[in-house]
Amino acid sequence: MYEGYTCPICGYDDVDSVAYRDERGIVEEYLRCSQCNYYYEYAYGHYVEYFAGHEFAWSYMTKGNEWVNLMRKMKRAQFMARRNWRKGLRDKFKVAYDDVEP
Ligand SMILES: [Zn+2]
Repeated sequence: MYEGYTCPICGYDDVDSVAYRDERGIVEEYLRCSQCNYYYEYAYGHYVEYFAGHEFAWSYMTKGNEWVNLMRKMKRAQFMARRNWRKGLRDKFKVAYDDVEP
């Protein structure tokens, strides 16, 4: 099942993805970029996004200021990660998110 995901950090357009569905739609989804180790996980309302040594986690329960602050931090980290990747500063990208196997 090819979904055609593009990595939001390095732009690689063949990101590995796995999704599990039930009758209501996707219940679990995992993305893993083989180029920069970007990792995204969605499982039953809980999300994890990992890249360049940063890990962000939230859930459908994350709301209000907490949500806004988290998204702001994540966007800033993504911006820096994209810039570092482009510049070839890639040491932090060598560490993969290995705790969870898709
Ligand atoms: Zn990538």
